[in-house]
Amino acid sequence: MSTPNFQPLPWQRALWTTVAASMLDDRLGHALLIAGPPGAGKRHFAACITAALWCRQRATDGTACGACPDCLQVLSEAHSGYFLLRVEEGKRDIPINAVRELSEKLTITQYDGRAKVAIIDPADSLNLNGVNALLKTIEEPTPGSHLLLVSSRPQALVPTLRSRCQRLPIAAPARDVALSWLREETGGKFDEAALAQALELASGAPLKAIELLASNGVAVRADWARGLLDLAVGRGEPVPMAAAIVDADPAGWVQWLYGWLAALLRARLNAQADDAALRALAQRLPAELLDRYVAEAQTALERIHGAADKKLVIESLLIGWIALLARAGRAAQNPRA
Ligand SMILES: [Zn+2]
Repeated sequence: MSTPNFQPLPWQRALWTTVAASMLDDRLGHALLIAGPPGAGKRHFAACITAALWCRQRATDGTACGACPDCLQVLSEAHSGYFLLRVEEGKRDIPINAVRELSEKLTITQYDGRAKVAIIDPADSLNLNGVNALLKTIEEPTPGSHLLLVSSRPQALVPTLRSRCQRLPIAAPARDVALSWLREETGGKFDEAALAQALELASGAPLKAIELLASNGVAVRADWARGLLDLAVGRGEPVPMAAAIVDADPAGWVQWLYGWLAALLRARLNAQADDAALRALAQRLPAELLDRYVAEAQTALERIHGAADKKLVIESLLIGWIALLARAGRAAQNPRA
Protein backbone atom coordinates (compact mmCIF):
# COMPACT_ATOMS: atom_id res chain seq x y z
CA MET A 1 0.00 0.00 0.00
CA SER A 2 2.72 2.48 -0.82
CA THR A 3 3.09 4.79 -3.75
CA PRO A 4 5.36 2.76 -6.01
CA ASN A 5 6.43 5.50 -8.37
CA PHE A 6 8.05 8.89 -8.40
CA GLN A 7 4.88 10.90 -8.82
CA PRO A 8 4.44 13.54 -6.14
CA LEU A 9 1.35 12.97 -3.99
CA PRO A 10 -1.75 14.96 -5.01
CA TRP A 11 -1.23 17.58 -2.28
CA GLN A 12 2.42 18.02 -3.28
CA ARG A 13 1.70 18.91 -6.91
CA ALA A 14 1.93 22.71 -6.56
CA LEU A 15 5.22 22.45 -4.70
CA TRP A 16 6.49 19.97 -7.28
CA THR A 17 5.80 22.43 -10.11
CA THR A 18 8.08 24.97 -8.43
CA VAL A 19 10.80 22.42 -7.68
CA ALA A 20 10.66 20.94 -11.19
CA ALA A 21 10.94 24.39 -12.77
CA SER A 22 14.13 25.17 -10.86
CA MET A 23 15.48 21.69 -11.56
CA LEU A 24 14.89 21.97 -15.32
CA ASP A 25 16.56 25.42 -15.25
CA ASP A 26 19.47 23.93 -13.32
CA ARG A 27 18.98 26.30 -10.41
CA LEU A 28 17.74 23.86 -7.77
CA GLY A 29 19.11 24.85 -4.34
CA HIS A 30 22.10 22.92 -3.08
CA ALA A 31 20.52 22.34 0.34
CA LEU A 32 16.78 21.74 0.57
CA LEU A 33 14.75 21.43 3.75
CA ILE A 34 11.67 19.30 3.23
CA ALA A 35 9.55 20.11 6.26
CA GLY A 36 6.07 19.07 7.32
CA PRO A 37 4.09 16.92 9.76
CA PRO A 38 4.79 13.18 10.11
CA GLY A 39 2.93 11.20 7.47
CA ALA A 40 2.55 14.01 4.90
CA GLY A 41 4.93 12.26 2.47
CA LYS A 42 8.18 14.18 2.95
CA ARG A 43 10.39 11.18 2.31
CA HIS A 44 8.43 10.32 -0.80
CA PHE A 45 8.89 13.87 -2.08
CA ALA A 46 12.63 13.58 -1.46
CA ALA A 47 12.65 10.36 -3.51
CA CYS A 48 10.76 12.13 -6.33
CA ILE A 49 13.44 14.85 -6.45
CA THR A 50 16.28 12.33 -6.24
CA ALA A 51 14.98 10.17 -9.06
CA ALA A 52 14.17 13.20 -11.22
CA LEU A 53 17.78 14.39 -10.91
CA TRP A 54 19.01 11.14 -12.48
CA CYS A 55 16.17 9.82 -14.61
CA ARG A 56 17.04 9.32 -18.26
CA GLN A 57 13.49 9.70 -19.49
CA ARG A 58 11.93 12.46 -17.41
CA ALA A 59 8.38 13.46 -18.28
CA THR A 60 7.66 17.04 -19.37
CA ASP A 61 6.49 17.90 -15.82
CA GLY A 62 9.93 16.91 -14.57
CA THR A 63 8.88 13.67 -12.85
CA ALA A 64 11.07 10.57 -13.13
CA CYS A 65 9.89 7.64 -15.26
CA GLY A 66 10.29 5.04 -12.51
CA ALA A 67 11.49 2.42 -15.01
CA CYS A 68 14.92 3.38 -16.38
CA PRO A 69 18.09 1.88 -14.80
CA ASP A 70 18.72 5.01 -12.72
CA CYS A 71 15.16 5.08 -11.39
CA LEU A 72 15.36 1.40 -10.48
CA GLN A 73 18.57 2.04 -8.59
CA VAL A 74 16.89 4.83 -6.65
CA LEU A 75 14.02 2.48 -5.83
CA SER A 76 16.43 -0.09 -4.42
CA GLU A 77 18.50 2.67 -2.75
CA ALA A 78 21.50 1.29 -4.63
CA HIS A 79 22.40 4.27 -6.83
CA SER A 80 26.12 5.09 -6.72
CA GLY A 81 25.41 8.79 -6.17
CA TYR A 82 22.82 8.25 -3.45
CA PHE A 83 23.56 8.58 0.24
CA LEU A 84 21.19 8.26 3.14
CA LEU A 85 21.92 9.38 6.68
CA ARG A 86 19.55 8.30 9.39
CA VAL A 87 19.62 7.43 13.06
CA GLU A 88 20.81 3.90 13.59
CA GLU A 89 18.73 1.49 15.64
CA GLY A 90 19.20 2.17 19.35
CA LYS A 91 21.05 5.46 18.75
CA ARG A 92 19.79 8.88 19.72
CA ASP A 93 21.33 11.00 16.99
CA ILE A 94 23.37 10.95 13.80
CA PRO A 95 27.06 10.67 14.78
CA ILE A 96 29.57 13.29 13.64
CA ASN A 97 31.67 10.64 11.87
CA ALA A 98 28.78 9.76 9.60
CA VAL A 99 28.38 13.43 8.67
CA ARG A 100 32.10 13.82 7.95
CA GLU A 101 32.09 10.69 5.81
CA LEU A 102 29.10 11.99 3.90
CA SER A 103 30.73 15.39 3.34
CA GLU A 104 33.80 13.67 1.91
CA LYS A 105 31.73 11.56 -0.46
CA LEU A 106 29.90 14.65 -1.66
CA THR A 107 33.12 16.54 -2.46
CA ILE A 108 34.39 13.81 -4.80
CA THR A 109 32.89 14.44 -8.23
CA GLN A 110 31.11 11.47 -9.80
CA TYR A 111 33.19 9.79 -12.51
CA ASP A 112 30.44 10.57 -15.01
CA GLY A 113 29.88 14.09 -13.69
CA ARG A 114 26.29 13.32 -12.69
CA ALA A 115 24.43 14.51 -9.61
CA LYS A 116 25.00 13.26 -6.08
CA VAL A 117 22.19 13.31 -3.59
CA ALA A 118 22.34 12.92 0.17
CA ILE A 119 19.17 12.57 2.20
CA ILE A 120 19.32 13.29 5.92
CA ASP A 121 16.23 11.99 7.64
CA PRO A 122 15.37 13.22 10.19
CA ALA A 123 17.64 16.24 9.95
CA ASP A 124 16.69 17.24 13.51
CA SER A 125 18.68 14.22 14.71
CA LEU A 126 21.96 15.92 13.82
CA ASN A 127 23.80 17.02 16.92
CA LEU A 128 25.61 20.35 17.11
CA ASN A 129 28.92 18.88 15.89
CA GLY A 130 27.13 17.21 13.02
CA VAL A 131 25.45 20.48 12.08
CA ASN A 132 28.78 22.31 12.09
CA ALA A 133 30.36 19.69 9.85
CA LEU A 134 27.39 19.92 7.53
CA LEU A 135 27.45 23.73 7.39
CA LYS A 136 30.91 23.59 5.83
CA THR A 137 29.59 21.34 3.08
CA ILE A 138 26.64 23.66 2.51
CA GLU A 139 28.82 26.77 2.37
CA GLU A 140 31.29 25.26 -0.10
CA PRO A 141 29.08 23.05 -2.22
CA THR A 142 30.50 20.73 -4.86
CA PRO A 143 28.71 21.40 -8.15
CA GLY A 144 26.05 18.78 -8.80
CA SER A 145 25.67 17.72 -5.19
CA HIS A 146 22.38 18.10 -3.38
CA LEU A 147 21.50 17.77 0.28
CA LEU A 148 17.90 16.95 1.10
CA LEU A 149 17.13 17.52 4.76
CA VAL A 150 13.90 15.96 5.93
CA SER A 151 12.24 17.04 9.17
CA SER A 152 8.88 17.02 10.88
CA ARG A 153 10.33 19.30 13.57
CA PRO A 154 12.14 22.02 11.60
CA GLN A 155 11.89 24.33 14.61
CA ALA A 156 14.31 21.96 16.38
CA LEU A 157 17.00 22.62 13.76
CA VAL A 158 19.79 25.06 14.54
CA PRO A 159 18.77 28.41 12.97
CA THR A 160 22.08 28.76 11.05
CA LEU A 161 21.37 25.45 9.34
CA ARG A 162 17.73 26.27 8.72
CA SER A 163 18.52 29.62 7.17
CA ARG A 164 20.99 28.12 4.70
CA CYS A 165 18.45 25.73 3.26
CA GLN A 166 15.78 26.36 0.68
CA ARG A 167 12.57 25.47 2.50
CA LEU A 168 10.09 23.11 0.83
CA PRO A 169 7.03 23.01 3.11
CA ILE A 170 4.74 20.01 2.83
CA ALA A 171 1.45 20.44 4.64
CA ALA A 172 -1.03 17.67 5.38
CA PRO A 173 -3.80 17.86 2.75
CA ALA A 174 -7.40 18.96 3.22
CA ARG A 175 -9.61 16.17 4.60
CA ASP A 176 -11.45 15.44 1.33
CA VAL A 177 -8.19 15.28 -0.65
CA ALA A 178 -6.71 12.93 1.96
CA LEU A 179 -9.80 10.69 2.02
CA SER A 180 -9.99 10.38 -1.72
CA TRP A 181 -6.30 9.49 -1.87
CA LEU A 182 -6.74 6.91 0.92
CA ARG A 183 -9.72 5.39 -0.91
CA GLU A 184 -7.67 4.97 -4.06
CA GLU A 185 -4.54 3.68 -2.30
CA THR A 186 -6.38 1.04 -0.29
CA GLY A 187 -8.44 -0.09 -3.30
CA GLY A 188 -11.75 -0.57 -1.48
CA LYS A 189 -10.30 -2.72 1.30
CA PHE A 190 -11.72 -0.43 3.98
CA ASP A 191 -15.06 1.29 4.32
CA GLU A 192 -15.44 5.06 4.56
CA ALA A 193 -15.81 5.02 8.35
CA ALA A 194 -12.53 3.11 8.77
CA LEU A 195 -10.71 5.51 6.44
CA ALA A 196 -12.10 8.54 8.26
CA GLN A 197 -11.20 7.05 11.65
CA ALA A 198 -7.65 6.26 10.56
CA LEU A 199 -7.23 9.76 9.15
CA GLU A 200 -8.54 11.31 12.36
CA LEU A 201 -6.16 9.17 14.46
CA ALA A 202 -3.31 10.20 12.15
CA SER A 203 -4.15 13.89 12.75
CA GLY A 204 -4.94 14.26 9.05
CA ALA A 205 -1.64 12.85 7.73
CA PRO A 206 -2.50 10.37 4.94
CA LEU A 207 0.67 8.24 4.97
CA LYS A 208 0.36 7.83 8.72
CA ALA A 209 -3.28 6.81 8.19
CA ILE A 210 -2.17 4.16 5.65
CA GLU A 211 0.35 2.85 8.16
CA LEU A 212 -2.33 2.62 10.84
CA LEU A 213 -4.66 0.77 8.50
CA ALA A 214 -1.93 -1.65 7.46
CA SER A 215 -0.86 -2.44 11.02
CA ASN A 216 -3.13 -2.80 14.01
CA GLY A 217 -2.47 0.89 14.72
CA VAL A 218 -6.16 1.80 14.73
CA ALA A 219 -6.89 -0.76 17.47
CA VAL A 220 -3.82 0.33 19.47
CA ARG A 221 -4.91 3.97 19.31
CA ALA A 222 -8.46 3.09 20.26
CA ASP A 223 -6.91 1.39 23.35
CA TRP A 224 -4.89 4.50 24.11
CA ALA A 225 -8.00 6.67 23.93
CA ARG A 226 -9.89 4.20 26.14
CA GLY A 227 -7.03 4.33 28.65
CA LEU A 228 -7.27 8.11 28.97
CA LEU A 229 -11.06 7.99 29.22
CA ASP A 230 -10.72 5.32 31.96
CA LEU A 231 -8.27 7.45 33.91
CA ALA A 232 -10.74 10.32 33.55
CA VAL A 233 -13.34 8.35 35.54
CA GLY A 234 -10.89 7.00 38.11
CA ARG A 235 -10.25 3.60 36.51
CA GLY A 236 -6.78 2.27 35.65
CA GLU A 237 -3.30 2.99 36.96
CA PRO A 238 -0.90 5.41 35.28
CA VAL A 239 2.34 3.52 36.04
CA PRO A 240 1.48 0.16 34.38
CA MET A 241 -0.22 2.10 31.61
CA ALA A 242 3.01 4.04 30.99
CA ALA A 243 4.99 0.78 30.95
CA ALA A 244 2.69 -0.66 28.27
CA ILE A 245 3.02 2.50 26.18
CA VAL A 246 6.82 2.45 26.43
CA ASP A 247 6.78 -1.16 25.18
CA ALA A 248 4.50 -0.26 22.27
CA ASP A 249 5.55 3.10 20.81
CA PRO A 250 6.40 5.93 23.24
CA ALA A 251 7.10 8.66 20.66
CA GLY A 252 4.03 7.57 18.68
CA TRP A 253 1.92 7.81 21.83
CA VAL A 254 2.99 11.37 22.65
CA GLN A 255 2.39 12.38 19.03
CA TRP A 256 -1.01 10.68 19.18
CA LEU A 257 -1.84 12.35 22.53
CA TYR A 258 -1.10 15.73 21.03
CA GLY A 259 -3.49 15.01 18.14
CA TRP A 260 -6.10 13.57 20.52
CA LEU A 261 -5.99 16.73 22.66
CA ALA A 262 -6.46 18.78 19.50
CA ALA A 263 -9.58 16.69 18.77
CA LEU A 264 -10.70 17.33 22.36
CA LEU A 265 -10.25 21.07 21.88
CA ARG A 266 -12.25 20.89 18.65
CA ALA A 267 -14.99 18.89 20.41
CA ARG A 268 -15.10 21.63 23.05
CA LEU A 269 -15.87 24.21 20.39
CA ASN A 270 -18.14 22.02 18.31
CA ALA A 271 -21.15 20.65 20.19
CA GLN A 272 -21.91 18.45 17.15
CA ALA A 273 -18.66 16.45 17.41
CA ASP A 274 -19.15 12.80 16.36
CA ASP A 275 -17.62 11.12 19.39
CA ALA A 276 -20.03 11.34 22.35
CA ALA A 277 -17.45 10.31 24.98
CA LEU A 278 -14.98 12.89 23.73
CA ARG A 279 -17.68 15.58 23.61
CA ALA A 280 -18.80 14.87 27.18
CA LEU A 281 -15.21 14.95 28.40
CA ALA A 282 -14.49 18.19 26.55
CA GLN A 283 -17.43 19.86 28.30
CA ARG A 284 -16.00 18.90 31.71
CA LEU A 285 -12.62 20.53 31.12
CA PRO A 286 -12.14 24.27 31.62
CA ALA A 287 -10.37 25.79 28.61
CA GLU A 288 -7.41 27.23 30.54
CA LEU A 289 -6.64 23.88 32.22
CA LEU A 290 -6.85 22.07 28.90
CA ASP A 291 -4.61 24.68 27.24
CA ARG A 292 -2.02 24.22 29.95
CA TYR A 293 -2.07 20.45 29.49
CA VAL A 294 -1.70 20.81 25.71
CA ALA A 295 1.43 22.89 26.39
CA GLU A 296 2.71 20.07 28.64
CA ALA A 297 2.14 17.57 25.84
CA GLN A 298 4.00 19.81 23.42
CA THR A 299 7.01 19.99 25.75
CA ALA A 300 6.86 16.21 26.16
CA LEU A 301 6.93 15.84 22.38
CA GLU A 302 10.28 17.65 22.32
CA ARG A 303 11.59 15.69 25.30
CA ILE A 304 10.62 12.26 24.00
CA HIS A 305 12.78 12.85 20.93
CA GLY A 306 15.65 13.99 23.15
CA ALA A 307 17.59 12.37 25.95
CA ALA A 308 14.75 12.24 28.50
CA ASP A 309 13.70 8.96 30.13
CA LYS A 310 10.70 7.97 28.01
CA LYS A 311 8.91 6.16 30.81
CA LEU A 312 9.18 9.20 33.08
CA VAL A 313 7.92 11.53 30.35
CA ILE A 314 4.86 9.34 29.80
CA GLU A 315 4.17 8.73 33.50
CA SER A 316 4.29 12.44 34.15
CA LEU A 317 1.85 13.11 31.30
CA LEU A 318 -0.57 10.47 32.62
CA ILE A 319 -0.31 11.80 36.17
CA GLY A 320 -0.77 15.32 34.81
CA TRP A 321 -3.89 14.10 33.04
CA ILE A 322 -5.35 12.73 36.28
CA ALA A 323 -4.45 15.98 38.07
CA LEU A 324 -6.12 17.98 35.30
CA LEU A 325 -9.37 16.04 35.77
CA ALA A 326 -9.21 16.38 39.55
CA ARG A 327 -8.77 20.14 39.19
CA ALA A 328 -11.59 20.30 36.65
CA GLY A 329 -13.81 18.37 39.12
CA ARG A 330 -13.02 20.81 41.93
CA ALA A 331 -13.64 23.78 39.64
CA ALA A 332 -17.06 22.34 38.74
CA GLN A 333 -18.04 21.85 42.42
CA ASN A 334 -16.83 25.26 43.44
CA PRO A 335 -16.97 27.51 40.38
CA ARG A 336 -15.78 30.58 42.26
CA ALA A 337 -12.71 28.93 43.80
ZN1 LIG B 1 13.73 7.06 -15.01
